[in-house]
Amino acid sequence: MKLATPLFLVLLAGTADAKPRVVLDPGHGGSNLGARGAGVHEKQLTLELAHRVAANLRERGIEVALTRDDDRTLTLRQRVEVENRIPADLFVSIHANASPTRTQRGFETYVLTARGIDVDGRALRSDATTPRPNVDADTALVLDDVERGASQWEAADLAARIQRGLRDRRGHEGDRGVRQDAHHVLLGATMPAVLVEVGFIDHPIEGRELVDPAVQAELAAAIATAISDQLSD
Ligand SMILES: [Zn+2]
Repeated sequence: MKLATPLFLVLLAGTADAKPRVVLDPGHGGSNLGARGAGVHEKQLTLELAHRVAANLRERGIEVALTRDDDRTLTLRQRVEVENRIPADLFVSIHANASPTRTQRGFETYVLTARGIDVDGRALRSDATTPRPNVDADTALVLDDVERGASQWEAADLAARIQRGLRDRRGHEGDRGVRQDAHHVLLGATMPAVLVEVGFIDHPIEGRELVDPAVQAELAAAIATAISDQLSD
């Protein structure tokens, strides 16, 4: 079945200026609720945070596209398509965590690793990859992998900046570090891509903090500043 083209793809199609551009991916949405705690679903928190990060970035003159701008279900394939088709400098997916015992807390940021380049990833992007005129299919796959490798260093840089920003505002004890994982949403990424878990929404204390507008503003500022610093380096 052909996937509908999200409206923002159409809106961005005609722009050719050199403004830095970021894709923000609010985790979950629609029937995909995500984790639950503090009276909200993860999908609500991630959208609120993404809107705050987007506003902050736009104030700095950075162009922002969202994989979803409202409460809708996005398949993994749709997220990957957006990620690959919008020419952007960075991709940041925003999530909140949960733990079986509701006792864990803190924040962590994931970067794409080479382990993400696997058969499934190739199959997934086989019809969504960047067209490469005059390059045969096998060579195109190799080029994709080379680009992904280069993106990984920048993604690691960005992840470290986000962690530092969150640590400065949320405290050292919550720092769970930068992690490398072939997180599913990052499969197919051809730009530096990270996934930030801002905190544990089901922790009795941290969950309440995450829905506090003042804390949300802090989280958004930390993420936006890290992105802005990364783009200006
Ligand atoms: Zn999530």
